[in-house]
Amino acid sequence: MSAVQKTRAEVLDGRPVAEQIKQDVRAEVTRLWQDHGVRPSLAAVQVGDDPASAVYVRNKVKTSEDLGLASEHHALAASTTTEALIELIADLNRRDDVDGILVQLPLPKQIDEVAVIKAVDPAKDVDAFHPVNVGLLAMGRPQFVPCTPAGVIELLERNQITIAGVNACVVGRSQIVGRPVANLLLQRHATVTICHSRTADLSSITRQADILVAAIGQPALIRGLYIKPGATVIDVGINRVTDRELARELFGDVAETRIEAIDRRGYTLVGDVHPAEADLVAGRRTPVPGGVGLLTVAMLMRNTVQAARRRRGV
Ligand code: NDP
Repeated sequence: MSAVQKTRAEVLDGRPVAEQIKQDVRAEVTRLWQDHGVRPSLAAVQVGDDPASAVYVRNKVKTSEDLGLASEHHALAASTTTEALIELIADLNRRDDVDGILVQLPLPKQIDEVAVIKAVDPAKDVDAFHPVNVGLLAMGRPQFVPCTPAGVIELLERNQITIAGVNACVVGRSQIVGRPVANLLLQRHATVTICHSRTADLSSITRQADILVAAIGQPALIRGLYIKPGATVIDVGINRVTDRELARELFGDVAETRIEAIDRRGYTLVGDVHPAEADLVAGRRTPVPGGVGLLTVAMLMRNTVQAARRRRGV
């Protein structure tokens, strides 16, 4: 018998971490109301009818309500102009009863996304996309931490995974995930490498990483050979798989439930990491769904409560 018995990667479940954060938010919301008569409120703005955006916004509004926050959902037509959207944002900025403003991205092509992001009052910018908040984060003095990157850090820290001194690799350099994740890891004293679509010999770099974060948007791009044995793999990607054979290849011995999902609703979700291969190499990995995605909304709620506390001086 071989001396080394291969075990599967431990699953870093997002559910208990997200639940804990949401419970803390609920308790804080109750305290703010009882002690100060303050009810934090979130305004969510959605433009157009992209089905994924609609699901995300509905989920954010519903979670706000579940946790006792006030919320409002502004659904605008796909033909909305930059000027009209900025006008709505200016109104939300002016309103004292609105603590957090969230504009669901991506926006339709005719809208100037940067102008819209810059229009949100930085004090209400609970997604932390405004240049002021991006700058503060880069300086290591964040006012708000962007939600998905904050979720990645929560998952690592609440699972007692050492960040200081380890090699961390982030694949993806977007403003909303890759770059802020890299910044947060750097602030926690990891040695950070950022990879992207022009990186030469990607796997030789990712294979050095004790913590590997994949935020790419390419289904299962990170194969087993890209992963250092025993590494912690955080999969931020959310991609749809509609092909039954591909699902069989990706999910190994749990493929049947995924294939059933394809038969039932037309697709199943996979991250940017090949799950069956990662299971054989990684020490720990986040599942998709059920990993980082669950944290994003929880962190948005936390940011909204923080915005309320700061704005109202309590
Ligand atoms: P973007 O498309 O903005 O960025 C993708 C990044 O991946 C880019 O930096 C790109 O490089 C890089 N990339 C693309 N192809 C390759 C490749 N072949 N090799 C190496 N790098 C590559 O995506 P986002 O950052 O917005 O999102 C990434 C993923 O995370 C998506 O699947 C998205 O759905 C998911 N997501 C999940 C969230 C959650 O709540 N869990 C929230 C937000 C996003 P380059 O810069 O050179 O183009």
